Amino acid sequence: MIKPNNPHYQLGVKFYRERGEWHDQNLWEIRKKRDRAVKGVSNWEFFRKRGSEIKSRVVKNLPQLIEQFTANAQKEGIEVYFASTAQEHNQKVLEILQKEGVKKVVKSKSMLTEECGLNPFLERNGIEVIDTDLGERIVQLRKEPPSHIVLPAIHLKKEEVAEALGEEESDPIYLTRKMRQLLRQEFLSADAGITGANFLVAQKGWAVVATNEGNADLGATLSPLHIISVGVDKLVESLEDVGVLLKMLARNATGQPITTYTTFFGAKSNGRRVVILVDNGRLNRRGGEFEETLKCIRCSACLTTCPVFRRSGGHSYRYPIPGPIGSLLAPLQEEPEKYRDLPFACTLCGSCEMVCPVEIPFTKLLIQMRRFVTTPTLLGIVGEKILHSPTLYRLFAQIIRLTPPSLLEKALSQWSKYRKLPQIPKIRWI
Ligand code: SF4
Repeated sequence: MIKPNNPHYQLGVKFYRERGEWHDQNLWEIRKKRDRAVKGVSNWEFFRKRGSEIKSRVVKNLPQLIEQFTANAQKEGIEVYFASTAQEHNQKVLEILQKEGVKKVVKSKSMLTEECGLNPFLERNGIEVIDTDLGERIVQLRKEPPSHIVLPAIHLKKEEVAEALGEEESDPIYLTRKMRQLLRQEFLSADAGITGANFLVAQKGWAVVATNEGNADLGATLSPLHIISVGVDKLVESLEDVGVLLKMLARNATGQPITTYTTFFGAKSNGRRVVILVDNGRLNRRGGEFEETLKCIRCSACLTTCPVFRRSGGHSYRYPIPGPIGSLLAPLQEEPEKYRDLPFACTLCGSCEMVCPVEIPFTKLLIQMRRFVTTPTLLGIVGEKILHSPTLYRLFAQIIRLTPPSLLEKALSQWSKYRKLPQIPKIRWI
């Protein structure tokens, strides 16, 4: 149970009181749009099955796919490096940028760079980083992290966006045009572009990047250096696999049939293109009880549908990836102790499981995660024994019936603080 003095709890409650209902409604509209888009594909469940199979195969063959992608990308003319940790990744990016004398970088949305803390690292080392995704730039100007993996500023109202831009006018079209003007200057004066990738095609050595704003394409092509920072879990075998996953990605994320820009990057004709493949704990997850988390394609549908996320907002998770998938990834990627309450914040309603395009079994994994982050107590061990034995269970039920209700309430003080203990029915011997 999450205690009221817990920082996740406090942030979630504050958010809920201030804008929970409004945020919930906004996200529910996106969920409805997603449902309409999904209904337009008659064999959606077939695609989910295919998506799940494709990603299961990727997880199984990950080391071979890394080798295959590296060889083919190098043949294409792309430089490839491997980073075992977030620190190694950041160091490699810095080394490349410093060698090229880069002072300013334009970056498109990448959850991997959030996971690695790349922006503050580069800024500490004297390199200016401009986020170029509209929502990302807004939160960057407000000096706060994104609150959603596809809709980074979904927690903000238009007046707050105007304030971040130093504008009086809060008309969304005006603000978008203003941001476009400002970002054009940044693109033209940057020395390098950094992007993530949605998929890496091992058989071709290509990187696939999907955006709605074209900002990744501008960053990747205008400057002479393009770095792609990407987790090894983004590998797939073939273009056919990309076809299946792309069909579900945009529909599940925003209810669009496809993103406005979907670019397949091979070699760069006007400079260097570098791919940094990041492990940061991913390969260790293979073969373990949480390996299915590696199937995630970061479509964000599990966040958008989650009743807890919709009401408590992304910042309450205090991890770059929030929502159901974040509740699994945070304790795995960082110290489990720090995020042990996240799997308990879940209601286990299963909505995330129903929308996930790669069939990640959330309910099972979140229950496993609860076990993973907790040390069994004596009470827990005794409870497990009782629940496993019908005789012990009946005996225990009888003892409970004979116990005065006031004593029971005292024993269950954490539980009964917020609820009334119901009348216990008489035993029925079967
Ligand atoms: S876990 Fe599934 S639904 Fe959630 S972001 Fe990943 S692919 Fe999408």
